[in-house]
Order: sequence, then structure tokens, then C-alpha cells
Amino acid sequence: MTEELSKAQRWGQFKARFWSVIGSLLAFCFVFILGGIVVMRFVTDPNLSVPLAAILAIFSATVVYVLSMKKKSRYATCPSCSAPFSMVLVDRDEQLITAVPRQTVRVVSHSAKDGTPQYQHDTWVAEFYRVTDTVECDQCGEKFERKYNKEYGSGATSSTDW
Ligand SMILES: [Zn+2]
Repeated sequence: MTEELSKAQRWGQFKARFWSVIGSLLAFCFVFILGGIVVMRFVTDPNLSVPLAAILAIFSATVVYVLSMKKKSRYATCPSCSAPFSMVLVDRDEQLITAVPRQTVRVVSHSAKDGTPQYQHDTWVAEFYRVTDTVECDQCGEKFERKYNKEYGSGATSSTDW
């Protein structure tokens, strides 16, 4: 790809890089700690086990970064002209499909007198939306729709009774 990336494409690429870096940092910490524990079981010398865990962590971070960039650029690539990071969200439509009342009951404490449990009731409404995103290709102007479902919890109330 030799042509200059447009502003929107650069922004898309920046976002993809940003989240890929976050993901690989998480992978690094996770593998460094967990891998370090495993490595130390076999390699008792900390001069060896720490660099070994670090190498493992760097390796996993790289794998996560590469895979994440691949996935994100594929998602953001125009299906029509295949320009990378060219898809820009131009419209979002959310249609309420259904609202379901929900409740959870949990024991918060026990009465000091006779040990009767005290309950807390949490009620909320789970709202399900059908979302239609319209994305436009920054390069060829082609429009595409992406449909997916989304859930929101709203109107939460909390009460304690006993
Ligand atoms: Zn396009």
C-alpha cells in the first residue's frame, strides 16, 4: 500500500494500535506473573527464571498485538475497495426490542437477635436493542450496514428489607 492514508484512516489505525497495545500490555502482565510462577517451579535461580518469564511475556504480548491488529484491520477494511481502516461510523439506529424486568435477591446480613437473614432486593430493567450501524467507506464512499443486538440495564432500584 503506497498511497497516503487519509485522516480518517490514520485515526482508525491509531485506534486499532491503541487497543492492540493495551491488549498486549495486559497479556504481558498476565503471562509475566502467571508464567513467572510456573517457571519458578522448574528454575529456582531468579537470575534465570525472571528473564525467562520476561521472554515468555514479551512473546505473548507480540502475538496478541499482531493478532489484534489483524482482526481490527480486517474489521475496518472496506469490503468493496479493500482500503484499510477506512470504515467510518456515520449513523447509529437503536430500536428497543424488549424490556425485561429483572431482580436479584441476596443476603446482606443476619439479624443480631435471632439470626434471621436480611435480604437486599435489586430490581432493574434489562433493555434489548437492535442496533443498526451505518458505516461509510472513507475511500470509495460505499455504505454498509452492520446489525447487532445490545443490552442495557436501566432504572436500577435497590431496597433492603427483613
Ligand atoms: Zn471502499
